Amino acid sequence: MRLAEQVTFGGGGLDRAAHRRGDDAWLAGAWSGAQVLPLWRDKPLFGPEGLGWVPSAHPLLDARRAEAVFLGLSGGSARFALDLSDWVPAEMPETLGLFRDPSEQRHPELPEDLSFRELRGGMTALAPVEAELAATAKGLFDWHRGHGFCARCGQPSRPAEAGWQRHCPGCGAPHFPRTDPVVIMLVRRGNRVLLGRSPGWPEGMFSLLAGFVEPGETVEAAVRREVAEETGVRIGQVGYLASQPWPFPASLMLGCWAEAETDRITPDPAEIDDARWVSREEMLAVLAGERTDMLPPRPGAIAGFLIRMWLADRLD
Ligand SMILES: [Zn+2]
Repeated sequence: MRLAEQVTFGGGGLDRAAHRRGDDAWLAGAWSGAQVLPLWRDKPLFGPEGLGWVPSAHPLLDARRAEAVFLGLSGGSARFALDLSDWVPAEMPETLGLFRDPSEQRHPELPEDLSFRELRGGMTALAPVEAELAATAKGLFDWHRGHGFCARCGQPSRPAEAGWQRHCPGCGAPHFPRTDPVVIMLVRRGNRVLLGRSPGWPEGMFSLLAGFVEPGETVEAAVRREVAEETGVRIGQVGYLASQPWPFPASLMLGCWAEAETDRITPDPAEIDDARWVSREEMLAVLAGERTDMLPPRPGAIAGFLIRMWLADRLD
């Protein structure tokens, strides 16, 4: 798909300079003059325009250089990220960790015009490379938080390679950041696409069907299995369209098209609240906000991107 990398979190072109991750002398030199992105409990620091980068010489950050993760090179400077999650603000937001967290936190030692904000809310306003930097930092810190102990022997493990690995001092096992593949499919049948909604979603919210790829499974098989499990619709041909890193917390969305061979929908109540075929004309009305029973797709997610590309005949 020619326009694949126009998806949110796509096409950032970040130079990750991965060969520098084990070079402590180079990293120490790169730190001076570097720009640092602080994160607090999964929320990146934002400024008036884009992310809230802070010079590495700032005393709060410089004192914690050993914990910094090296993200890469961008805009002529080295980019690092630091997790400041141990800071406790005077007021803890009640919305922290919810699907929508509109709250902002200002750290008393950081510039006043910078605040920690939920990435889901701010992602579509970011330039592609900034979105990639934020997704990378969020994904890495989430992985570190959930993998403090060696999965092989149970001993506490330590960050290594500028944050891109963890090593176990007990058994020597290296551990690498996880990315979990998820298939998300534009299921077509003539002029219509198949949309579904999960139990508990806001009223009127529908999206493309999606599900995790299982061990031993191809992308194509995962598409056919998920659609069959969730709706009973049988799928023939499957093809790949575009991918999207989705750091909520660690998914790689694999966008596919799939040709349905049957019409009849039998939703699996455990996974699907409702599923329906939606025509191009109906979808255009949804996007225009003219339907009361369906909301437009959420901005930033690959489902909305693929639906818009389908409507514009740009899946080529
Ligand atoms: Zn171990």
